[in-house]
Amino acid sequence: MADWQVRKTITPPSPGTPPHGGAPGLVGLVLVAGGGGFIGGHLVDALLAQGCRVRAVDSKPFADWHQLNPAADNVVADLSRLEACHAAAQGVGVIYNLAADMGGMGFIEAHRAECMLSVLINTHLLMAARDAGVSRFFFSSSACVYAAGHQQSPAVLPLKESDAYPAEPEDGYGWEKLFSERMCRHFTEDFGLETRVARYHNVYGPQGTYEGGREKAPAAICRKVAFAKLSGQHDIEIWGDGEQTRSFMYIDDCVEGTLRLTNSDVLHPVNVGSAELVSINQLVDIVSDIAGVQLRRSHNLSAPQGVRGRNSENTLIRAALGWAPSIPLRTGLEQTYRWIYDELTAGAVPGQAPASRQHATATV
Ligand code: NAD
Repeated sequence: MADWQVRKTITPPSPGTPPHGGAPGLVGLVLVAGGGGFIGGHLVDALLAQGCRVRAVDSKPFADWHQLNPAADNVVADLSRLEACHAAAQGVGVIYNLAADMGGMGFIEAHRAECMLSVLINTHLLMAARDAGVSRFFFSSSACVYAAGHQQSPAVLPLKESDAYPAEPEDGYGWEKLFSERMCRHFTEDFGLETRVARYHNVYGPQGTYEGGREKAPAAICRKVAFAKLSGQHDIEIWGDGEQTRSFMYIDDCVEGTLRLTNSDVLHPVNVGSAELVSINQLVDIVSDIAGVQLRRSHNLSAPQGVRGRNSENTLIRAALGWAPSIPLRTGLEQTYRWIYDELTAGAVPGQAPASRQHATATV
């Protein structure tokens, strides 16, 4: 792969162009690192719709990008390398770092070193942002930073921001996120770089990963239910006993929270997550109901399950932004199920999933 592969070039901003703050009407150049990923792709669209000029950078070849918006300056580059970060940050007012090597629980439990290597991306992007005089830097952290001791029961108390310390995050992925949050804070304190940090809680929606081993529970369940409906094989395997609980945030709330937080004065990490707690069994109930199928369930008790319960406490985001994620889970799942169903049936024999999809890894 070439170091810096440009799909479409745009004119660099003239000196003195006001940096983008996300507000409509401002047209500064914005960098979306990880723009070929799930959240990054949706963010690129939202920023372009606001009138921003966007540079989207991702290490994957264009053919693997979740979305490729031709109105953006799309670039393939490895942002774990400092030189690539310097090139990406040139002329940029705001950086959104959505780039990371990550996936659902099955992936992060089996790839701890790879997850921790994402520290190179955020560290080098921060250095490049400082050197380029970027006015604001957003980092996508995760609920995986929260201490395990607060997440041992399905009837979990929602996690408030202070529950990240004393530190006992998810091994690998969570440690990298906590360290990178800290790095953002110290770049603010030591170098005056304005940083914003969101702790996302399980994001789902159309254009997300739904097969291959990196998918998360909502997409995996939608895929399995759609496959059951198409194939007539009404069996579904669920990881664990299914009583583990989570909250899931629809992508539109995620993008809105990201833009609102970046435009705010909030200097500390904030939960950006839904507070609608469900068990994995309830998630299967909702998707089955949307699809109109009855399923025979089996539980794989040796599969990775993560913590027993996790929910988002949204007092701080409401106070800071006057807003919190609110899209009901069922509403978001209807959109997501429809999109995955259409993906599975695209070009397929009616009533049968395409052969290429039939060996999809199960990761609920
Ligand atoms: P994603 O995997 O779809 O997107 C991440 C993108 O980063 C990928 O396209 C990947 O190719 C790219 N990338 C990886 N290494 C890179 C490198 N060296 N240089 C350039 N690009 C690189 O994941 P997502 O769901 O869109 O998540 C975006 C961010 O939000 C990540 O930081 C993730 O940890 C965080 N997050 C996501 C969730 C969620 O539920 N999706 C929850 C918490 C936090």
